[in-house]
Amino acid sequence: MTAPALESALDVLHRVFGYDSFRGEQAEIIGHVCDGGDALVLMPTGGGKSLCYQIPALVREGVGVVVSPLIALMQDQVDALRALGVRAGFLNSTQSLDERRAAEAAFLAGEIDLLYLAPERLRVPATLSLLGRGKIALFAIDEAHCVAQWGHDFRPDYLALSELHERWPDVPRIALTATATEATHAEIAQRLDLRPSERARHFVASFDRPNIQYRIVPKDKPRQQLLDLLRAEHPGDAGIVYCLSRNSVEQTAEFLATQGIPALPYHAGLDAATRAANQARFLREDGVVMVATIAFGMGIDKPDVRFVAHLDLPKSVEGYYQETGRAGRDGLPSTAWLTYGLADVVQQRKMIDDSDGDLAHRRRLAQHLDAMLALCETVECRRVQLLNYFDQRGAEPCGNCDTCLTPPESWDGTVAAQKVLSTVFRLDRERRQKFGAGQIIDILLGRRTAKVEQFDHHSLTVFGVGTELSEGEWRGVVRQLMAKGLLAVEGTYQTFVLTEASRGVLRGEQQVLLRRDPERQTRSRTRSARAPQAELPAGAAPVFERLRAWRGAAAKEQGVPAYVIFHDATLREIASRSPANLAELGRVNGVGENKLAKYGEQVLATLAEAAS
Ligand code: ADP
Ligand code: ZN
Repeated sequence: MTAPALESALDVLHRVFGYDSFRGEQAEIIGHVCDGGDALVLMPTGGGKSLCYQIPALVREGVGVVVSPLIALMQDQVDALRALGVRAGFLNSTQSLDERRAAEAAFLAGEIDLLYLAPERLRVPATLSLLGRGKIALFAIDEAHCVAQWGHDFRPDYLALSELHERWPDVPRIALTATATEATHAEIAQRLDLRPSERARHFVASFDRPNIQYRIVPKDKPRQQLLDLLRAEHPGDAGIVYCLSRNSVEQTAEFLATQGIPALPYHAGLDAATRAANQARFLREDGVVMVATIAFGMGIDKPDVRFVAHLDLPKSVEGYYQETGRAGRDGLPSTAWLTYGLADVVQQRKMIDDSDGDLAHRRRLAQHLDAMLALCETVECRRVQLLNYFDQRGAEPCGNCDTCLTPPESWDGTVAAQKVLSTVFRLDRERRQKFGAGQIIDILLGRRTAKVEQFDHHSLTVFGVGTELSEGEWRGVVRQLMAKGLLAVEGTYQTFVLTEASRGVLRGEQQVLLRRDPERQTRSRTRSARAPQAELPAGAAPVFERLRAWRGAAAKEQGVPAYVIFHDATLREIASRSPANLAELGRVNGVGENKLAKYGEQVLATLAEAAS
């Protein structure tokens, strides 16, 4: 970057944001955009994308126009900037006419540095004419994957963004996303006319989120498993619990609440006011657990989400990675935990079969699901597998996922698979009856249940041939056969049937390697697998709690989320360094000029109180 641009960018970083140095490729990206270049930025959640357009908007002359689909969060984003002393505004459909006029006037007068805009605004000729009358520093296109039809979150309004560079050929554009396989990446570049060139540079950061511990466990009383996790590892922490259906969202939130955990529901069936109120509490209060469908979360940049739990299987690795990525944006240790079982696989396959759309669409859904299942059933490092999925190869086993911490064994399950498949083959003839996994397992274990006797299943040759495995182990075998496509369900009765691929196994031509599910974790094991807590030096913990209490009160008074005042990471650093005066406090990461002036004295007073 040109020397003056670098200097002003660094100055803004220190003075406004209170940070020492740029992270990763931030300096390169910011320099390129400050100098008038276009950029396509792929960086994981929490990687620091916002600075990549906020700083150039402050350095360059004119207003940075940020296109973002996250209407509900614009107010918070603008509040967070204002807390830093940055002049910002927004335009979207939630505003009154007066508010909109005020934002427009501020834009025209150049009294703001950043203007957030919902994409549908760009379809309104009046907006385009407004933009034409002001001075634009840059266009930032946030959540840029929304322009990709191949991706999992396509929004038609985003297609209009391709016109920006035709109208404003000289204004730099920076498109950013936290989710992109190579296919999505290419599609974004093509649709936004940002194919790699000297002017349009692509910056692809590592997608790794080393502070997130990934864990996937077999489902067995999921709500209880969740409660155990929260009690053992995340008491008092904020987190998100994802469920597939509105019903299970409601029930899970209620269950947690009766167990004394402050949990709130969020799904598209709730009225807008309730949703907004619940989202506001999650953002503003400390330690709230949001139980939600995936309707919740895009753009939630609450930095201290300590865990993301999935009670149902996500439909794709992209979705899973984006949802889990909402944990630990502040870089502190966090947990991504998923519980899944046979019923999830059956249900998701059925949803695909029943879905509208053509064959190609269903095939795409099936590919997404298969990749997700492969991640669940892997015996290798989850992180390596995730990064491979995003075409980032060559990573070493991470030591911070469940398969690294308690390596599962793999075993030759060929014979077991043959036993299950031949049982299914024999039951196949009685298709009008629903036989679930339970019946198959009862037959293999040689149990004379009423249903076994009713259908004369004890006379099958496979009856009792599977006593070498336990019921739980057989369930694991059936689940993995489903996951591998060696078994399918079909018809109104959802009967198990063989697939093309199962013939090879039955004929002994194909070996089947299976994963041995770890025993249900005992307490001591849980502890060893547990996300390492960020340790504070002795004596600093109560100081941190004091600072948190002060922050909570200040946030309430001002009606802003607590993290808008200071992040946990900043409070931790203050608690452990215990600065003696304003100058020392100003050197703490995350304490910029504006916040130092506004809160410095209060923080020092709180420290003094804690010391007395
Ligand atoms: P993203 O939009 O990529 O998810 P954010 O822009 O929200 O990430 O940044 C994630 C967190 O990292 C924020 O708390 C942000 O303030 C912090 N951050 C970003 N850049 C830096 C930096 N250079 N030094 C310290 N903290 C940073
Ligand atoms: Zn690992």
